[in-house]
Amino acid sequence: MTATFAFTAILTVFAVLIWFLWQQQSDAENSPGQEDARISPLLRGINYLLSDEPDQALKELVHVARLQTETAEVYLALGDLFRNKGEFGRAVRIHQNLLARPGLPEALHMEAQFALAMDFQAGGLLGRALKQYRKVLDVQPGHVPALEATLRIREQSQEWSLAKDVLFRLDQVCNTSSSLHHAYLMTEMARGKLGEGDKEQALKLVTKAIDTNPACAAAHMLLAEIDLNRGDHDAAFASMESLQHAAPQYISLLIPMLLEHPKTYTGQGEAFLLACWEKHHDEFLALEWIKGVNTKYGIEEAKRLISRMSFSPEGLRTCLHLKAMMGDDALALASRNWQQQSRNFTCSHCGVEVMDMRWQCPQCHEWGSMRPIQEVQI
Ligand SMILES: [Zn+2]
Repeated sequence: MTATFAFTAILTVFAVLIWFLWQQQSDAENSPGQEDARISPLLRGINYLLSDEPDQALKELVHVARLQTETAEVYLALGDLFRNKGEFGRAVRIHQNLLARPGLPEALHMEAQFALAMDFQAGGLLGRALKQYRKVLDVQPGHVPALEATLRIREQSQEWSLAKDVLFRLDQVCNTSSSLHHAYLMTEMARGKLGEGDKEQALKLVTKAIDTNPACAAAHMLLAEIDLNRGDHDAAFASMESLQHAAPQYISLLIPMLLEHPKTYTGQGEAFLLACWEKHHDEFLALEWIKGVNTKYGIEEAKRLISRMSFSPEGLRTCLHLKAMMGDDALALASRNWQQQSRNFTCSHCGVEVMDMRWQCPQCHEWGSMRPIQEVQI
């Protein structure tokens, strides 16, 4: 992907350079005396680029730029090329140099501002990137790529409330309604409030998240957690039921929370999970449940659970896990190693596979798109 992008950037640079050469030749016919002064450094620059000597290439191309003011496109393409190669410092220097040039047309100035912001972001200088994107947005408040990039940085920095403001602006500009995204951001805000000990505000936010979009699985889970921790079991199970209706694929995520409350687990918890199992026959849920019970109560209790569920595994992974759990030492060690490396969740949007559940995809940044990987049955 990066290689394709870098290749495209290289092609763009060459396309611009070839156009520039052609222009130079046309000009040279009118003023032959200037030909050598312009074309030689350009050819040398191309030569250095081809020999992968970017420093020398840059030196020559800067020289061309001094001779000819129309080379802003060459600079922009070159800056993109360096950024895509991971050479952020060079990309920043090129774009700053361009911005310092007097008389740069407004459209190119804007392009260079945006490119500089992307350089900072790609280099991990998120604060400077945000400032730079703000400069773009001050001139063009509806600049969608700058708004999207700002949103990404706010989410990356876990500044959920600010992220929500940017998402609201994006919805206005694009005339969209990202209610599920808003609901996930509110759930994260609620989680933050819970961390600060502000349960009342957390409850308000998570309830608002569910009202905004009832398909937000993380909100149902968090509400169940808040209710369980304050001893309101009926409300907690009502939230778990809502989760089962909205997104049954996430029921297995409730297991650690239920096992942390033994009285609740042996009271309504077991019956709830059993009903879910009978309804969905989700092997991922079965395996996570049996593994959780084995860790918490031991192997005899896990065996009793298997019998209560009338569970007989159909997938290879589940078979091996259970066999290892039942006491085959060699298999247990292999299974442990395997579990440490195995990818359990996949994004339904971009297909990336990850080990642990997360509500936002680390690759495409979609919310609520991760699903447990269901293995092929043997
Ligand atoms: Zn994804």
